[in-house]
Amino acid sequence: MSVLVYIEQADGKFKKSGYEAVSYAKAIADAQGTNLTAISIGNVGDGELKELGKYGASKVLNVTSDQLSSFVNQAYASVIAAGAAKENADIVVLSNSFSGKGLAPRIAVKLTAGLIDGAIELPQTEGGKFHVKKTAFSGKAFAITELTSANKVIALNPNAFGVKELPVEAVIEAFTPEVKATDLVAIVKEIIRATDKISLPDAELVVSAGRGLKGPENWGMIEELATLLGAATACSKPVSDADWRPHAEHVGQTGITVSPNLYIAIGISGAIQHLAGVSSSKVIVVINKDPEAPFFKVADYGIVGDAFEVVPKLIEALKAHKG
Ligand code: FAD
Repeated sequence: MSVLVYIEQADGKFKKSGYEAVSYAKAIADAQGTNLTAISIGNVGDGELKELGKYGASKVLNVTSDQLSSFVNQAYASVIAAGAAKENADIVVLSNSFSGKGLAPRIAVKLTAGLIDGAIELPQTEGGKFHVKKTAFSGKAFAITELTSANKVIALNPNAFGVKELPVEAVIEAFTPEVKATDLVAIVKEIIRATDKISLPDAELVVSAGRGLKGPENWGMIEELATLLGAATACSKPVSDADWRPHAEHVGQTGITVSPNLYIAIGISGAIQHLAGVSSSKVIVVINKDPEAPFFKVADYGIVGDAFEVVPKLIEALKAHKG
C-alpha cells in the first residue's frame, strides 16, 4: 500500500498546484504510515523532478514517451493507473485542475476506485472510516463524503491545502508503461496560443472587471493594472456576453474556474454564479462603489469607491513602487 500523486507540468515546469498536491499527498502518506511516489508525464528535466523531494516525494516515476509530450486525457489516465498498479498504491492524488477534472474520474474507473473531486481537507480516518470534506454545488456548500472502496482517488482543489516543504531525497525512476493505440484516438498535433498573455486558468494573479466598467472602451486601465502586476485579465459573464471582452475571459459557474493567489474584482457585484468560479482564490480584493455589494462578504480586502478613481490611483502607486 502506498500513495501516488500526479503532478501536472507545462513546458517542462511543474505547476504550483502540483506542488500543493504533493504536499497534500505526503500528509496522507504520513498519516497512513506509507511512502509517497510522484508520477510525472512529459519532458521534465532531472532538476525539476528532484525538486519534488522537497515536498515529500521519495520516488518519482518519470514517463517521457513522445506520444505523451502533449496532454491526452485517456492515455494519461491509463499511465497514472499503471503507475498506481506498479507502486501498489491504493490512494491516488491529483489536482482538481482543468486537466485533473477530466483525469480523476477516468483513473477511478480504471482502478475501480471511489472518487472525491474538489477535496479541501485531509481525510479523517477515525474508527476505520475514510471521510473527506469537499465542495459541493459549485462551491456553495460542503459535503463530507465517505469512501468505502479499497482504492481511492482524491482530486484536491487548488489553494485548499497550500504548498508545504518536507524535504526527502527523491529517487527518479524511468517508467515506460505500454500506451495503447485505443488511448491515442484524440491527440494534440499543434498548440497555437490565442495570445501571449498569461493563461487565465493557471494565473497566480488575476485582475477581473464587470459591468461596473460601463463599456469596453474603459478596459485600458484594467489591462494596464494587469500588466503592471503580471496578472491575467478576466471578466464577469454579462461583460463577455456583451462582447466587451472575449469569452475566454469569462469566469464563474458557466465560465472558467480560477484559483489564483490574488483575485482583484473591479465593478463586479459578486453574484453567486460568479463566486462559484473564483471562491478558491487565496486572497480576494474587491473594488466596488456600492458598500452593500455581495462580493464584499467574501473579500479579504475591500475598497468602497469608484473604479474610475481607485484603479488609476492603484496604477500610479504601482508605477511609483516599481520606479
Ligand atoms: P452587475 O450585477 O451589473 O454589477 C455591477 C457592479 O458594479 C455593481 O455591484 C455596482 O455597484 C458596481 N459598479 C457600478 N459602477 C461602478 C464604479 N464606477 N466603480 C465601482 N463599482 C461600480 N455571471 C458570471 O460572472 N459568471 C458566470 O459564470 C455566470 N453564470 C451564470 C449562470 C446562470 C445560470 C445565471 C442565471 C447567471 C449567471 N451569471 C454568471 C450572471 C450573474 O448572475 C450576474 O448577473 C453577473 O455575474 C453580474 O455581472 P456584474 O457583476 O459584472 O454586473
